[in-house]
Amino acid sequence: MIFDVLSLFPEMIENYCSYSIIKRAVQAGIITVNALNPRDFTLDKHKKVDDTPYGGGAGMVLMVQPYVDAYESIKRIENSVTIMLSPQGEPLNDNIVNELTQYEQIVMLCGHYEGFDERIREIIKPREISLGDFVLTGGELPALCLIDAVSRKLDGTLGKIESADEDSFSNGLIEYPHYTKPREFRGLRVPDVLLNGNHKEINEFRLQKSIERTKIKRPDLYKKWLKNSD
Ligand code: SAM
Repeated sequence: MIFDVLSLFPEMIENYCSYSIIKRAVQAGIITVNALNPRDFTLDKHKKVDDTPYGGGAGMVLMVQPYVDAYESIKRIENSVTIMLSPQGEPLNDNIVNELTQYEQIVMLCGHYEGFDERIREIIKPREISLGDFVLTGGELPALCLIDAVSRKLDGTLGKIESADEDSFSNGLIEYPHYTKPREFRGLRVPDVLLNGNHKEINEFRLQKSIERTKIKRPDLYKKWLKNSD
């Protein structure tokens, strides 16, 4: 999977990808992350990437030329999708993450300041994805969330021990509670069932806990899960 990220702050992307599991995925050749700065594509000597909005108003708008030229410099392969990180997009969820794993290249456009000149959308026609109904200062964090969430679903990124199969949302429920050593802390004991080595009982306990906490924490998911398990 190739991730090509257009960002005014490419170091943010590179830094995140040089730690932990994502770093391992890069080193193993499972993912490639290229960060490209539209500032390197400006035609004026001041390397200007933003300007005041026509019609007035607050903030600076990202200029169409550097973004479009930077985008068009990226070699796109056939099985590729282009995503604009934007609070106006479809909210990211596990289904979208699964869908994105089917591509071999994901090109991402990170905005900043007041956002993109509308013609960037008109020319590039990206799919727009949001991290949720709130506004961040830039698209780098959402792009990194996407890289992270997609990468951990790709074969080989997680070791067997870190498998994503039982993570929240994988079966329509949120995950059961986890415990590790010590067996008791401040009077709080690890449930006995987890200590008895009976895997059938452990699985039943975990499923029950998943159902209980989905019902309480995410009644919307619980309703869907009930409907699907009919
Ligand atoms: N003026 C824009 C609006 O109201 O839709 C918000 C611009 S925001 C300050 C700057 C950039 O951060 C956006 O262009 C986008 O790339 C990114 N961004 C902010 N919030 C986001 C979110 N919830 N999801 C995805 N990207 C977001």
